[in-house]
Amino acid sequence: MFKKILIANRGEIALRVICACKELGIRSVVIYSEADRNSLPVRFADEAICVGPPQLAQSYLNIPAVISAAEIANADAIHPGYGLLSENANFAEVCETCNIKFIGPPPPVTRLMGEKEKARAAMKKAGVPVLPGSEGVLGSEAEAAESARAVGFPLIVKASAGGGGRGMRIVRSEAELPALFQAAQSEAAAAFGNGALYIEKYIERPRHIEFQILADQYGTVASLGERECSIQRRHQKLLEESPSTEMTPELREEIGGMLSKTLSDIGYANAGTVEFLMDEDRRLYFIEMNTRIQVEHPVTEMVTDVDLVKSQILVAAGETLENVLHGPILHRGHAIECRINAEHPETFTPSAGKITAFHPPGGTGVRVDTAVYAEGTIPPYYDSLIAKLVARGKDRAEAISRMSRALEMFIVEGVYTTIPLHRRILADPEFQAGHTDTTFIEKLIPRDTRRAHG
Ligand code: ADP
Repeated sequence: MFKKILIANRGEIALRVICACKELGIRSVVIYSEADRNSLPVRFADEAICVGPPQLAQSYLNIPAVISAAEIANADAIHPGYGLLSENANFAEVCETCNIKFIGPPPPVTRLMGEKEKARAAMKKAGVPVLPGSEGVLGSEAEAAESARAVGFPLIVKASAGGGGRGMRIVRSEAELPALFQAAQSEAAAAFGNGALYIEKYIERPRHIEFQILADQYGTVASLGERECSIQRRHQKLLEESPSTEMTPELREEIGGMLSKTLSDIGYANAGTVEFLMDEDRRLYFIEMNTRIQVEHPVTEMVTDVDLVKSQILVAAGETLENVLHGPILHRGHAIECRINAEHPETFTPSAGKITAFHPPGGTGVRVDTAVYAEGTIPPYYDSLIAKLVARGKDRAEAISRMSRALEMFIVEGVYTTIPLHRRILADPEFQAGHTDTTFIEKLIPRDTRRAHG
């Protein structure tokens, strides 16, 4: 087992990994930027090392600084959390070269899944359904037009290196293609340093359904069931739940079995999430795989009772999945997660600043993952997540009523938050009836529709 893990992240996920280390009796060392000097991860980790100024490129994304910190601390493993360096295969390789275990899949697998059109091709080859689309990346606008004619409209132009909903454009007719192709290309180049694009058939009103995977280093892969993440704004998740109201035990088993086999053949290890879109006929199509722990992992933890972060550490240390899971995975009850972001409720612009009052709710079935505290600050340099509020109930109705009262009892003052938006979602009869798809928020807040597609 590892003696000391370096956490190459910040905020709630750094704290989440610290919790797992404490429970496993492993020492933790967290890196931090000058903006996070007074953060809770710095307070609760056994050690903390400053890696640079607030700017991401100079601190959390500065690979030499992160590796030096691990070497100074004598850490034998690095947990990257999500975002930041978590899907950077080069970083994982540097860790390996320095004899530090990267808690994640092997670098070639991360690299394959990081190029979304290659991941699509690999899944298609393995028999996993994908949407009709271009073969590989598009070399030019002319190639895009040819491919678009074959796929048909509407379609979606996506960035090969995509993430966070960026570099994506919905195209409804051939006339729109040149301008939207160029817009997606420049957005992708600016965001990822890679303007490569591919085309996929666009599904109207899909549900986003993803499968949580856990794999050991010996080819055993388990599926821990699905999360539905259809409540999104600008292709970014706001609320997630498990199980999906559209899932059946048969379909869950069928997809889970197919993914276990495919990912075992690919050589997958550690935690991962395979994302699908579901069309109106309940057919699932692979869209991408994330090779790390997800923001929304707590909903799976709440319904399966599996601690995913501890499991990540155990399988990375060489444990077999059998020893980590202790028997079959059971799904009990229903869990919902609301992402509480520091954002203005109307403009959705980030609202950084000082938190003047903070009271997270508690009580039966409520979990709050946060690194925020009263009198602390939300720095302007990083993402705007304040807390993940998770409610579990014996069924969906109980999870909804529990979440509603928890939202009502959540006090955050000093910055704007998405709490009022979540209260609106939870009170909506369509949401309560389980009629959710990725256009739900546009319908709930029609005013926002123009901006989302503008
Ligand atoms: P990212 O990596 O940027 O998160 P994804 O490929 O995971 O991008 O897609 C994010 C979201 O964009 C999906 O959850 C869905 O709402 C929308 N989307 C992506 N592809 C399609 C598609 N082919 N049809 C309809 N919506 C899509």
